[in-house]
Amino acid sequence: DCVVHWFKRDLRTSDNVSLSKASKKAKEGGVPLVCMFIVSPQDYEAHLTSAPRVDFELRTLEVMKADLQELSIPLYVATVEKRKEVPKHVLEKCQEWGAKHVFCNTEYEVDELRREAKLTKLCLENGIDFNAAHDDVVVPPGALMSGSGNQYSVYSPWYRAWVKHLHDHPALLAEAESISPNPASAKETFQSMFSTPIPRAPPNKSLSDEERTRYAHYWPAGEHEAESRLHRFINEKINKYKETRNFPAANSTSLLSVHFSSGTLAARTAIRIARSANNAQKLDAGKAGIVGYISELAWRDFYKHVLCHWPFVCMGKPFKYEYADIEWEYDNEAFARWCEGKTGFPIVDAAMRQLNEMGYMHNRCRMIVGSFLAKDLLIDWRLGEKYFMTHLVDGDFASNNGGWGFSASTGVDPQPYFRIFNPFLQSEKFDEGGEYIRKWVPELKGVEGKAVHDPYSRGAGKQAEKAGYPRPMVEHKEVRQRALERYKKGLGRG
Ligand code: FAD
Repeated sequence: DCVVHWFKRDLRTSDNVSLSKASKKAKEGGVPLVCMFIVSPQDYEAHLTSAPRVDFELRTLEVMKADLQELSIPLYVATVEKRKEVPKHVLEKCQEWGAKHVFCNTEYEVDELRREAKLTKLCLENGIDFNAAHDDVVVPPGALMSGSGNQYSVYSPWYRAWVKHLHDHPALLAEAESISPNPASAKETFQSMFSTPIPRAPPNKSLSDEERTRYAHYWPAGEHEAESRLHRFINEKINKYKETRNFPAANSTSLLSVHFSSGTLAARTAIRIARSANNAQKLDAGKAGIVGYISELAWRDFYKHVLCHWPFVCMGKPFKYEYADIEWEYDNEAFARWCEGKTGFPIVDAAMRQLNEMGYMHNRCRMIVGSFLAKDLLIDWRLGEKYFMTHLVDGDFASNNGGWGFSASTGVDPQPYFRIFNPFLQSEKFDEGGEYIRKWVPELKGVEGKAVHDPYSRGAGKQAEKAGYPRPMVEHKEVRQRALERYKKGLGRG
């Protein structure tokens, strides 16, 4: 007999709602807790999970395995090739171990909900109690309704409702009880699980040795790393977050997105700890940096609520269906230049090269390259969304889809379509000294002053050419006009 917790995107042992419940159940029943994690290569393929992300998860599992072992809790990790087989595999293992209860935290995307429904049914048919918890979000989806009883589709009123809900339900921010150790005998009972190493990445997601070293350097894994990064951010940076967060060279954001998306840190934990550094109890009052940080974390919840209420966004449909008929340019060569960071627009190229090197891009730059792809190049935003997912270490369907919808003006609460970023002006405004560009575009390292933003039209063309930096691939003014016309036409207003 035992109780099972199935880890998915909640890769931590502390402040984990479902794991805590599972531990409590095991303790009450005087039975051991067994944890499991399933690697599904086909699932990675279907959901475009990036290889750096898989690597991060596997490195995290190493950390968790060691922590759980201290508590005599085994962690079973299996590779199940076909994703449809996952619920059956979970059930079979539960039966083999004699588990009467299975716990997990819910993932809200359509495929994941279907998989959970399937497992619920299988468990029910086989006399196993199945428990799913809300943990990934701070406020459960469906809890916030507008005055007319609908899901909000605009962030600001939703955010006010989110803040109020958390004030009315303080337990949502409380820390989940810590887990208890298993009886020492569990070490013998589940000996083979303790001695089996964490698998390496499946062939479809494996990295070269150089890449593994690089990503491990940028993104140390596990919940202890997440916790210390959070504390460093709160001690050193959060008070200036509001005024500095938009400047990619400032290194002023928390760089915690990979931890939130893999669940090595709960958004709930971060909000609770950030709030304790504030001089106000209210989430939207007191120090501007802390309020600003919490409101960015709220965006994460917002996009997950949107996805739950309008699951068609998981199926490649724009949230604003009136933008479903924009005529895009399917220009492979232009797309490849965007992917490689060779557009001739320094800020765009710097950002894409940061993504390709680190598996991460600063938020302001995500908006700039998103707008550039959808509007300047008129390339279907879904290609950009996919490219991001397959390269980001922090790839999260809801945030990525929401961010692309925002930038391409096709999503929920988006930029209006006629707001088209001028990449040169964005560059001057948010990378004024050009440090970000010089860091990521070595061809422009020696270009001094403002010319770095647009070397060919600001007197540094020869230098850029000599260094092999391309000319701008489009004329911004012209393509801006083209975008306005296509968007209008797509809307049937042309
Ligand atoms: P901080 O500024 O420190 O913010 C703290 C946390 O708040 C972040 O870690 C993140 O969890 C959350 N957050 C901040 N901004 C947003 C936002 N706009 N939307 C949702 N959550 C937010 N974020 C992802 O986690 N995964 C993605 O796949 C992703 N794709 C994006 C694609 C586009 C086109 C855009 C415009 C944004 C995307 N974002 C995504 C949101 C945002 O860019 C990143 O969360 C942020 O850059 C991560 O850096 P940080 O942890 O230092 O952020």
